[in-house]
Amino acid sequence: MKIWYLTHLADSPSNAPLAAAAEAQGVDWLQIDPAETTIELEPGARARIFDGEGKELQRPDVWFTRLGSSAPESSLQLVGLLESEDLPGMNRTEGIRIARDKAATLTRLGANRIEHPRTIVLRSMLALERAAAMIAGPPWVLKTAVGTQGLGVALAESREALLETAEAFFERDEVLLLQEFVAEARGRDLRLFVVGGELVGAMRRQGGEGEFRSNLHRGGRGEPVAVDDYSRELAILAARVLGLEVAGIDLLESERGPLVIEVNAAPGLAGIQSATGIDVAGAILDRLLRI
Ligand code: ADP
Ligand code: MG
Repeated sequence: MKIWYLTHLADSPSNAPLAAAAEAQGVDWLQIDPAETTIELEPGARARIFDGEGKELQRPDVWFTRLGSSAPESSLQLVGLLESEDLPGMNRTEGIRIARDKAATLTRLGANRIEHPRTIVLRSMLALERAAAMIAGPPWVLKTAVGTQGLGVALAESREALLETAEAFFERDEVLLLQEFVAEARGRDLRLFVVGGELVGAMRRQGGEGEFRSNLHRGGRGEPVAVDDYSRELAILAARVLGLEVAGIDLLESERGPLVIEVNAAPGLAGIQSATGIDVAGAILDRLLRI
């Protein structure tokens, strides 16, 4: 069994657990950066694929992607090619594309009646004044549509701060989200890890001192948590409506119940494995072998 592992992050801490799980299953696991590959489109014949060194690659039996918002959009071309040849694999391009864009994600969730924080999508500074009048605040949460690890997420504590942050964010991203601040979450959220339509692990993340973002990359800490049935079903549903076999669903515990804030198509493995002791990489391999 030969599996291609497509990732743009050569030194991600998620890579080693996956390779170890593959080895334990006797799988031939080949890590490839799709952004380094070259695709030769032969008229009337099957495309040829070359790695970064110019070596031709033979098709795998199964493919697995971990392509989050840091991977260039162009790396999805290779995944699209594998899909069009009907080679089995996960996560597929449709879900990856939606998940990397928070506006697209909340749109899809809302269309499926999944609760999320009140949000207004902004494409210009002009729209901001009106939007600020429609959402309770200050404070407001402002985020770039494409972003990860808490980097494009800010708390605006005044009108001036909101305008200033928006100016800076618009230079990085064309689309911003103005969101209600869920104060009662108090810097905590839940990360639910779904594989193959099942919840395989969950952790509560607590942001560092004075930090409203709970991302582990921003100094947050994770601990195992037992989630209720409703939150579990919500996470499984969110993964399903985005078409993701592997997904990290982030939930804020609000006064009106759990709210989905984002769905990660390439959720980190190291953090959840060390917080919960669960072999999430093993669960992914099991799913890949049954796909
Ligand atoms: P990223 O993709 O950068 O992780 P998120 O939307 O998940 O962006 O936001 C990062 C963190 O900020 C969340 O894990 C959560 O702790 C906090 N956060 C995000 N949105 C809100 C909100 N509307 N209210 C309160 N906290 C929030
Ligand atoms: Mg997040």
